[in-house]
Amino acid sequence: MPPMLNRFQTLIFFSFMCLIFQESFAQDPSRKAVFIILDGIPADVLERVNTPNLDKIAAIGGYSRGFTGGKKGGYSETPTISAVGYNSLLTGTWANKHNVWGNGIEEPNYKYWTIFRFLKEARPEAKTAIFSTWLDNRTKLIGEGLAETGRLKLDYHFDGFELDTLSYPHDEDKRYILTIDHLVSYEAAHYLKTSGPDLSWVYLEYTDDIAHRFGDGPEMDRAVQIADEQVGRIWEAIDFRRKNLKEDWLIFITTDHGRTIEDGKDHGGQSDREREIWMVTNAENLNSYFKNGEPAMVDIMPTIARFMNLESPQEQAKELDGVPLIGPISITQADLKETETEIILSWKPMEAQGKVEIWISKENNFKTSGQPDSYVLLGQSEVSSGEYRIQKNEVAGDWAKFVLKGQHNMLNLWKVKE
Ligand SMILES: [Zn+2]
Repeated sequence: MPPMLNRFQTLIFFSFMCLIFQESFAQDPSRKAVFIILDGIPADVLERVNTPNLDKIAAIGGYSRGFTGGKKGGYSETPTISAVGYNSLLTGTWANKHNVWGNGIEEPNYKYWTIFRFLKEARPEAKTAIFSTWLDNRTKLIGEGLAETGRLKLDYHFDGFELDTLSYPHDEDKRYILTIDHLVSYEAAHYLKTSGPDLSWVYLEYTDDIAHRFGDGPEMDRAVQIADEQVGRIWEAIDFRRKNLKEDWLIFITTDHGRTIEDGKDHGGQSDREREIWMVTNAENLNSYFKNGEPAMVDIMPTIARFMNLESPQEQAKELDGVPLIGPISITQADLKETETEIILSWKPMEAQGKVEIWISKENNFKTSGQPDSYVLLGQSEVSSGEYRIQKNEVAGDWAKFVLKGQHNMLNLWKVKE
C-alpha cells in the first residue's frame, strides 16, 4: 500500500486493485467467444480479394498469416485436411495427440479436451452453441453425448442440413452447400444476437467446395466475398451486443488449411501454401507473437481459454501445443535437437527476464488412459538463454516428454525414436 494517500486516492487505489483482480482471476460471464472456420481459403487469396467485413474486424484487433500442419517432418506433423485442422483448433493439440488424421474421424482421442469441454468442466452453467454445414463437427469431433467426452452436451445446435437431400438436393455445383451456409450464417447471427451463448462455433464450407472444383480464379474469389458477407452478418450481431449489452466478445475467424500452389484445387500435403492459414480477430490485447510471429492453428484454443479466464486442470494444460495470442507469454516455438552426447531443448524468449523450468516424464499415461504422468524437475534456465542442454546419459530410452514452464505459459515436447 503506497504511503500518504488521502481517502479518495485510497478508494481509487482499491478500485484499481479490484479491477486487476477481476481481470486476472474472475470467470467473467460477460466474456463470450465465437470462432468461425471458413474452409480452405489460402492467405494470398484472402489478401487479394475485397473482404470489407473481415477488414473491419481486423482493424479493431488484428490480422496475421499463420500455419497449420504441426512441425513439418517432425513427430507432430499433421495432414492439412479439414477435420484434422478443425480438431487441432478445438483441442489446441496436433494430430499425434488428438488422433484425427482424416475426414473419416475414425478414432479421436477425447483425452485431449475440446474448448467446449474445457468450458463446461470449468463452468457447467455456461451456454454453448454450434452452427455448422457439417454434422460430424458436433457428433464426432466435439463428441457430443459420448461416454469418452463425459456426455458433453451443447446447449444449442443448428446443423446436419447437408444430410437432408429432399430439402437440399445435392447438385454438382454445390449450390446446396451455399444455400446451407447462408442458412447457417443467418441462424448464427440471429441466435447470437438474441441469446448470446458464451461459446459458439460457426463452420462454413462453400469456399472449399468451389476451390476443389475450380481452383484459384474468379469463382473462388466470389466465394470468398460471399463468406465475408456471412461473417459480416455474424459480426453485426456480436457488435450489437457489445454496444447495447456491454458484453465483451472475442471473435476469431480462420481457415483450416491452404491449397496447392499449382492450381489451388487440392490440399492435404505439407507444402508451404497448404500449411499456411490466416487469422482475423477483434482481440485488442494481441501479443507480439501474434503480431510479429507465425501463430499456429493450435494457438486459438488457449487464446479463447485465456480470454474467458478458464481454469484448466494442470494435466490438460501441460498437454497443449498452443500458446495464447493475447496477454503476456514467456516462451514460444519449442524445439528439440539431439547431438551425439546432448539433448538440446530450445525456445524463443518472449520476455527479457525470468526462468524456464524443465520437467521430464518418461510416461505417456495421459495419452492412453487420461491419467496423470509423473514429472521430475531436471533444472532451470534463463528465459533469455533460449535453451537448456541435457546430457544424453541422463535420459535413458528412446522416448521422453518434456514440459518447459515459463512464468506465463508452458510448452511441451516429445523426444521420439529417430
Ligand atoms: Zn477444409
